[in-house]
Amino acid sequence: MAELTRFYENFQPAHYDVYLDIDRKNKLISGKTTIVGDALTANFSLHQKYLKVSAVQAEGVDVPFTVDDEADALHIELPEADEVTLAITYTAPLTDSMMGIYPSYYEVNGEKKQIIGTQFETNFARQAFPCVDEPEAKATFDLAIKYDEHEGETTISNMPEKKVENGVHYFESTVRMSTYLVAFAFGELQSKLTTTNSGVKIGVFGTKAHKANELDFALDIAKRSIEFYEDFYHTPYPLPHSWQLALPDFSAGAMENWGLVTYREAYLLLDPDNTALDTKQLVATVIAHELAHQWFGDLVTMKWWDDLWLNESFANMMEYVAVDALEPDWHIWEMFQTEEAASALQRDATDGVQSVHVQVNNPAEIDALFDGAIVYAKGARMLVMVRALLGDDVLRAGLKNYFASHKYTNATGADLWAALGDASDLDVGAIMNSWLEQPGYPVVNAKIEDGHLKLSQQQFFIGEGQEVGRQWQIPLSANYEVAPQIMADKALDLGDYRQLRDANGVPFRLNVGNNSHFIVKYDETLLNDIFAHLTDLDAISQLQLLQDLRLLAEGRQISYAEVVPLLVKFADSKSNVVNAALYQVANNLRKFVEPDSAEEKALQAFFDHLSHNQVARLGWTSKAGESNDDQLTRPYVLNASLYAKNETAIKSAHDLFVANKDHLETLSADTRVFILRNEVKNYGSADLFDQLLAAHRQSSDASYKADICAALTSTPDPDLVQKLVAKFEDAETIKPQDLRAWFRGLLANDKGQQAAWDWIRNDWQWLEDTVGGDMEFTTYITVTAGIFHTPQRLAEFKAFFEPKLNTPGLTREIKMDTKVIESRVDLIEAEKDAVHEAVANSLNK
Ligand SMILES: [Zn+2]
Repeated sequence: MAELTRFYENFQPAHYDVYLDIDRKNKLISGKTTIVGDALTANFSLHQKYLKVSAVQAEGVDVPFTVDDEADALHIELPEADEVTLAITYTAPLTDSMMGIYPSYYEVNGEKKQIIGTQFETNFARQAFPCVDEPEAKATFDLAIKYDEHEGETTISNMPEKKVENGVHYFESTVRMSTYLVAFAFGELQSKLTTTNSGVKIGVFGTKAHKANELDFALDIAKRSIEFYEDFYHTPYPLPHSWQLALPDFSAGAMENWGLVTYREAYLLLDPDNTALDTKQLVATVIAHELAHQWFGDLVTMKWWDDLWLNESFANMMEYVAVDALEPDWHIWEMFQTEEAASALQRDATDGVQSVHVQVNNPAEIDALFDGAIVYAKGARMLVMVRALLGDDVLRAGLKNYFASHKYTNATGADLWAALGDASDLDVGAIMNSWLEQPGYPVVNAKIEDGHLKLSQQQFFIGEGQEVGRQWQIPLSANYEVAPQIMADKALDLGDYRQLRDANGVPFRLNVGNNSHFIVKYDETLLNDIFAHLTDLDAISQLQLLQDLRLLAEGRQISYAEVVPLLVKFADSKSNVVNAALYQVANNLRKFVEPDSAEEKALQAFFDHLSHNQVARLGWTSKAGESNDDQLTRPYVLNASLYAKNETAIKSAHDLFVANKDHLETLSADTRVFILRNEVKNYGSADLFDQLLAAHRQSSDASYKADICAALTSTPDPDLVQKLVAKFEDAETIKPQDLRAWFRGLLANDKGQQAAWDWIRNDWQWLEDTVGGDMEFTTYITVTAGIFHTPQRLAEFKAFFEPKLNTPGLTREIKMDTKVIESRVDLIEAEKDAVHEAVANSLNK
């Protein structure tokens, strides 16, 4: 793979005229790109990939060029370095790769249709037109698009359409922007439009396979998000419109193209009358995330991909800030705690993880940078720490200056710290660098030694980790004033414990609010003190206790056997976040038991013990006016009850299925997945399998389709397992964008695991050809490692993936995931007897 040379050093484009003629029928793109720019050397290069270049002219005269596919380059020779107007004529294939310009497929009333859309991040603009495809190479763009158009099609882009002449759609010139944010789409689209109070046009676009009211939720959230950000950033939205487009085939979750944001259908469109609250919350945060980028990322862009975290961490924090303002009753920061905090703490504990800020040495590594748990979740936690330190007024003042100084250009992390530092008189960079440049995070040990309350920090690992003496500047957020705001030292002595305890009157606690990226290991006295006052703690603090105990147990600093009896204390909590944390720990116990063993039966009884009061309280159907907490808790406890094989639960689910069997999609979206899965597992048949698979093909409701996926992959029937695997490569049944969920579902099913594992090993090449080169590709390895927990699977995993260690972009993931499985296998071996005993003892009480 080629080394990274920055083409921008030798050629600086100012303006592009991009003309594209797209022939869907013959899958061919014919293009002519005119670029006005400054050639700083006579010999320079533009990016291209898969382009067949027929001519390059400078000032209307043919000049020599060579195409270098190895380096994604088009090398051009001018007589001399100069400002120049280049014209490049080429053709390119229209491929189904979900990168560059690509078709999305769907059906309306059995008729096959397609929409053409684009995905240029990270570096796929070069597959559409020759360019300097680097974030720093900002320029203005005039797009002109022609295609084999028919009646009733709509064409949209970053900017409004200017005119249509001879079938060519001309768009207004863009503002100065990066290539990876250019976008357009066309096809038979429906839309809903509105306008913000400042006059920005807002639109939601989707295929006509959807009901019109599926666009409403997104339109409302998009409009209010733009209004919120204009106010919060003190900076107007810079373009005339903000379009949101749902594409049937989409690799990532969504993409913040400036003025034309693209989404997976599941993350934009929803049935307003039957969608679970957590799905609505997820969709709202995705929209708010992309719209946060319209300023942070699009208006001001990272200089190079090593600062990708700057875009993503920031947008990942702002999605919660915005949605909290738009829908205060949702308490959306609770979702931050159950989702982002949990994933960051888990992933960041494995030795070998990347730091938030990371060097990019190789083009293939750019896509591997998108480690969601680190670049998004951990980075967002870092910025939440900054926000807590600065306060919103200072943060907003700093951001206003940051946008004013860097708009339409690029910036680095240091520029952001400088702007926030100026607004606050705090050396923000000094505090943040220990978190951004180092991988991992600390466990703070709090203990009483010689009568004194002492703290010390040490890097926390799950699995084997090399202690290299890393230290962090930790915002302690202690509830005793004697503790400093920032712990920069390795160890601290806070003084006489008895005196401190008497003076403060409450148990000693650290990281109150769970906003700093560290965990706490309290000694026995301190932990018992906290548990003795458990009911005084708010929900986030209870979640945090469970979260830290779980991580300490995963890291073998305490035993899972000690955690088991504590779970019962939380079982009747009415808080959704406490139940989320509780069942995360409980579900972690499932790896200690073999399927259908006596130990599993005991564990199932334990799950029943944990959940039965709540199932009785909440039931299977939501009650009018019930709290958000109750709505969000119900799925956890029903899931637990079904795992427990509670006969009443199994029968209730079956009765609901039977009563609704002719209109399953109208089952309440909160509980539908459990009803369908229960039916497939306990009352399944080939007919039911076919019925659900057909429903999956026909439905346009993404959450119903996800429920069917979860149900079908849980089948215990070996023939149906084979039938399912045979559909994995049939794009008309399972779209490549959705395949990972099907693979994961089957792999997690004891009765399907072997078939799923055989499939991925046998057809790895097919998978690589279909979704390789895509930023989501490595997650097939991640989800596999998330499930395997036996020595046999570990050996097979190594045998299969170790020979692929040198594949660019896969190296880190294979190394980390091998460690993840190894540490789990070791943990189970060491602790399973003690865990079984603890479960048995909890039942005897
Ligand atoms: Zn993003």
